Amino acid sequence: MKVEVDERGYYGSFGGAYIPEMLYPNIEELRLQYMSIIQDRDFQKDFRKLLHDYVGRPTPLFFAERLSEKYKANIYLKREDLNHTGAHKVNNTVGQILLARRLGKQKIIAETGAGQHGVATATVCALMGMECIVYMGEVDMARQKPNVERMRILGAEVRPAKSGSKTLKDATNEAMRHWINNPTDTHYIIGSVVGPHPYPDMVARFQSVISEEMKWQFKEATGNENPNHIVACVGGGSNAAGSYFHYYENDEVNLIAVEAAGKGNATGESAATTVLGTPGILHGSRTLLMQTIDGQVVEPYSISAGLDYPGIGPIHAYLFESGRGKFISVTDEEAMKAGVLMSKLEGIIPAIESAHALAALDYMQYDRDDVIALNLSGRGDKDLETYIKWGGY
Ligand SMILES: *Cc1c(COP(=O)(O)O)cnc(C)c1O
Repeated sequence: MKVEVDERGYYGSFGGAYIPEMLYPNIEELRLQYMSIIQDRDFQKDFRKLLHDYVGRPTPLFFAERLSEKYKANIYLKREDLNHTGAHKVNNTVGQILLARRLGKQKIIAETGAGQHGVATATVCALMGMECIVYMGEVDMARQKPNVERMRILGAEVRPAKSGSKTLKDATNEAMRHWINNPTDTHYIIGSVVGPHPYPDMVARFQSVISEEMKWQFKEATGNENPNHIVACVGGGSNAAGSYFHYYENDEVNLIAVEAAGKGNATGESAATTVLGTPGILHGSRTLLMQTIDGQVVEPYSISAGLDYPGIGPIHAYLFESGRGKFISVTDEEAMKAGVLMSKLEGIIPAIESAHALAALDYMQYDRDDVIALNLSGRGDKDLETYIKWGGY
């Protein structure tokens, strides 16, 4: 099935750009230029060089022999955990900072929840010698002290968002406000396939390097560039969109998206948007989100900071609605157990986000000979405290 954004920024009925009038010039500048910049040869040369020399790509495709034995399938891990800064997020920030330079911007702003996207942004700003301001909810700053300090070491300014619940959505509002007031010299780096068009498409394109590599790596490893299943966790959905991108039209490849069910979908403490969400507007696009009947965004919950988001990107709402993607949700407990299992069987401590993807195998149907690609979006170093607190190892 073709999965493409249309001229107005929609995937089916999802997407678009629902933005305040004041933001229109910024978004319009980006919309008119992003494709020609990304497709420019010199841009691609610079992007590829940094992905190779700085990020450490291509990331390996690793046959996980002991996990395969355990699950009775052929499981390959796409090792995004080995990227510089420990996750897939840097693929996008490298792309966007190069794009910002070509747009003639000197300053970068970003919003961050747990701090991972803030760190990935501060990293590339240091690399390029660009000024960096990261908005972060005051509550999140207290919860994620190490990442706040990482950003500061890297030379970024971390600005607390003090309104509302003092978390991600408030940081996003502050970043938008900053951008409205500084449209000419500033680029806003969004961290997932969310936000107004063209962000979801742009971020998906930068992350699509994941499936681009998978195609030749699977060809080398198995003789067939297509696995039977691709499994990835979904917060906003950028690592999933990146690992699906070059496979949308291979309808025989099952695309499995894994959401966080927190303490269980019936408990009111979950982040499983396709189970609990309805269509509405979130962060500038029409998508599925968790909301009350009068449209108030519901606070999501997951043990994993990266999946603790009340919506999904419009592309995933479309994959869900069309049936091209299959959605599974797994609880904190199931993810933590899967994380420990991967650690003990493969010597890889995964990010808790990525552990959700592994836990989903228990709910999947597959044959003994099937090839399963599991996108290992990040490493578990940042989650050590959560593993310790959980303690079930
Ligand atoms: C941020 C993050 C995620 C979730 O973000 P997506 O945009 O859904 O990919 C998943 N895994 C890791 C390791 C992360 O840091």
